[in-house]
Amino acid sequence: MLDLAARDIKYLPGVGEQRATLLNRELKIYSFYDLLHYYPYRYVDRSRLFKVSELTGNMPYVQLCGEIRSFEEMGEGASRRIVGHFTDGTGFVDLVWFRGLKYLKNRVKLGARYVVFGKPTLFNGRVNIAHPDIDAAETLQLSTMGLQPYYNTTDKMKRSGLNSQAMAKLLSNLFAQIGDNAIPETLTDDIVLKHKLMPLGKALRIIHFPKNNKELKEAEYRLKFDELFYIQLSILHYAKDRMQKYVGHRFAKVGDMFNRFYSECLPFELTGAQKRVVKEIRRDVNSNHQMNRLVQGDVGSGKTLVALLSMLLAVDNGYQACLVAPTEILSEQHAATLRRMLSSLPVRVELLTGSTRAKERGQILEGLANGSVNILVGTHAVFEERVQFARLGLVVIDEQHRFGVMQRAKMWVKNNIPPHILVMTATPIPRTLAMTLYGDLDVSVIDELPPGRKPIATQHIFRNRADEMYHFLHKQLKLGRQVYVVYPLISENEKLDLKSLEEGYSKLCNIFCDYKLSKLHGKMKPQEKDYEMRRFASGETQMLVSTTVIEVGVDVPNATVMVIENAERFGLSQLHQLRGRVGRGGNQSYCLLVTDYKLSEDTRKRMEIMTTSNDGFVIAEADLKLRGPGDIEGTQQSGVAFDLKIANLARDEQLLQYVREVAREVVNADPGCNAPHYRLIWERLRVIKRNNNWNWGAIS
Ligand code: ADP
Ligand code: MG
Repeated sequence: MLDLAARDIKYLPGVGEQRATLLNRELKIYSFYDLLHYYPYRYVDRSRLFKVSELTGNMPYVQLCGEIRSFEEMGEGASRRIVGHFTDGTGFVDLVWFRGLKYLKNRVKLGARYVVFGKPTLFNGRVNIAHPDIDAAETLQLSTMGLQPYYNTTDKMKRSGLNSQAMAKLLSNLFAQIGDNAIPETLTDDIVLKHKLMPLGKALRIIHFPKNNKELKEAEYRLKFDELFYIQLSILHYAKDRMQKYVGHRFAKVGDMFNRFYSECLPFELTGAQKRVVKEIRRDVNSNHQMNRLVQGDVGSGKTLVALLSMLLAVDNGYQACLVAPTEILSEQHAATLRRMLSSLPVRVELLTGSTRAKERGQILEGLANGSVNILVGTHAVFEERVQFARLGLVVIDEQHRFGVMQRAKMWVKNNIPPHILVMTATPIPRTLAMTLYGDLDVSVIDELPPGRKPIATQHIFRNRADEMYHFLHKQLKLGRQVYVVYPLISENEKLDLKSLEEGYSKLCNIFCDYKLSKLHGKMKPQEKDYEMRRFASGETQMLVSTTVIEVGVDVPNATVMVIENAERFGLSQLHQLRGRVGRGGNQSYCLLVTDYKLSEDTRKRMEIMTTSNDGFVIAEADLKLRGPGDIEGTQQSGVAFDLKIANLARDEQLLQYVREVAREVVNADPGCNAPHYRLIWERLRVIKRNNNWNWGAIS
C-alpha cells in the first residue's frame, strides 16, 4: 500500500517544483495525503441545464446551452467590454467579457452551440453573466459531469494559474495515479459495517468528484464521522489516562470553617442549585482523584459563594486554596468579598496582583510558603514561578475563558500531586463545545438565580431616538439608581474607539450635569481605574462611562441600567455578560442596546435574541449558530485549535454525540490500547496527534 503522506506533492503530474512551493506555502499542502484532504468548499451542479427564461438576478451558478447571435463592443478604457447576445430559444441574456477580448472573438463562433456556465447578476435591470465558462456543446458530456467542486485558493495561487479548476485537475491526476484501493481504511470493518459507512477511499473520491447530491451526503457523513471519532477518541483516551494516573488530595472532612461559615456568616439561604453543585464538588474532592470540574452559571447565579465554600473545604483539611480572576478589578472585588464574608473566622485571605507592592508581596509569598495564608486571590500573577505554596489543594479559576491551557497547566507543576481544579464560567458553553473542548471535564450547572431577581428588561434603540433614552436615564437617576454606559473598545480601532468614548463622555457630562460621572478604560493606570471603579461602587458617582473593562464580574447592586453603545459591534455572549452587570439588586433593571438605523441581517438577529431572551444558555447556543465555533469567545483563548476540516460543531451536534458513544465503546473494549483488533485505530490516533499537535481534552 502507498504511504500517501510520504509522497511529496511535487511528484504529482501537473505540479512540479514551482507549484509545489506555492502549495506548501499557501495551503500547507506538502504530500499526496494533504491534497487528498483539501476538500472543496462548495459544489455546482453541472448535470442540469437552465433555460434563459428561468434566469433571475438572484441565482447561484447556472448552465445554459445555446448560441451567440452577435457580439457588440461597448465602453471605453477600463469599462471596455464585449457583450455576446446569447439565446437558447427561450429568451436572450448578455454574456459580458472585460478581458481577453481578442482571444474570445477568434475562438467563439457565432451560431455554434455552446454550453455556458456562470453566475447571473442583475445590471441596470438586465440579467447578465460576466466571464462565463464557455465550451463547445458537443465536447461536454453533461450527464456525466455531476457536481463540479470549487476549491479555495489564494490570490498568489490564482496569479500562477492555480485556481479552483486547476486544483480539481490536480485531484483528478491524483486519483488516476493511486486509485481508490491505495487509500487505507481508518476504521475497523465492524465499525464501518455497523454504522453503514462508505469505505474511506470511495468517500474521499466522491467528496472531490460527486455525481449527485445523494452520494455527496454519504461521503460527507463518512468523513465527518471519521474526524469526530478521532477527536472524541483522543479526549476519552486522555481522560481515562488522567483518571488512572493522577491521584488527588483527599478532603475527607467537612470541618469547623465550613460549618461555622454556613451557620453564622451566610447572609442568605443557598439556592437549590448552589447546594447541588457544592455537593458535587464535595464528592469529587473526597474521592482520591483529582477534581476537574467546570461550573457553568449564568451571570448573577452566585458562583462566588460556591467557590468560597469549596475553598473552605480545602482549608478545613489543612490545604491552601487559590482563586484566580482575569482582571485586577475583579480579583480585588473577590478578595474584598471573601474578607468581608469571612471577617469573623480565622481564615487569612491575601490578594496578589501585578500591582501588589514589593514589600507586601514579600510577606504574602512568605505566608504562602509557610502555610499561614489560607486563601490567595489574584490575577495571572499567581502563576509566576516565585509563587510557591506550602500545600496547595484547590485552584478555582473564575471566568475561565480568559485563561489559556498553558496557564492552567502551570498550576500543576507547583505540586507533586496536582491540586483540584474548579473552573467557573458565566459564558455558558454549549454542550457540543464543552464536550469537544473539555472532554471528560465534569460539568456542574447552576441553573437557578437567587430568589427575588426580576428579569432584566432589554430594549433595542436606534440612535436617532437617543433623546427618549436620556429622558429615561434621568428618571432612573432621580430614583437614586446608577447607570453604566459602555462603548466598544476593540484593539484594531483603539484610537478611534477611545475618541468615541471621550466624545460620548463629554456629551453625557453635559446632558447629566446634575450628576457625577466616572470614566473608565483599559489605557488608564491601575490606580486610576481602581479609583474610578471605587467611586462608582460606593455610589459617589452615578454614571460609569466605560469600555468593556467592566465586562467581567463587577458587582454594583444599585446599578439598574446598562446602556451599550454601538451594540452591533459586540458578540452575543459579550452583550449578555455586560447585561449581567445590572439586575443584581432588588430593583427592576434595564439593558438598552443602541445601534445605527442600518443594520446587517446578523446584527438584527443578535438584537432580537437579546431582547427576547435572558437565558445565557439560549444565547450561547444562538451565538454558536450565528458565529460558528471558531469565533466563540473563549475557544480561541483556550488554546484549542478548531481546524476541523469537514465537521461543524454547530451543525453536527447530533453526529458528535453519536460518534462519542462509538469512541467510548472502543475505549471500554480495549482499555490497554493493545488489542490487535483495534491496532489500526490506535496507530491512526498516534499519527493524527503527531501531525496536528492535538491537545483535545488536555485541560487542567
Ligand atoms: P456570579 O455567578 O455572576 O459570579 P455572584 O457570585 O457575584 O454571581 O453573585 C451575585 C450576587 O448574588 C451577589 O451579590 C451575591 O451576594 C448574591 N447571592 C449569591 N448567592 C445568593 C443566594 N443564595 N441568595 C441571595 N443572594 C445571593
Ligand atoms: Mg462572578
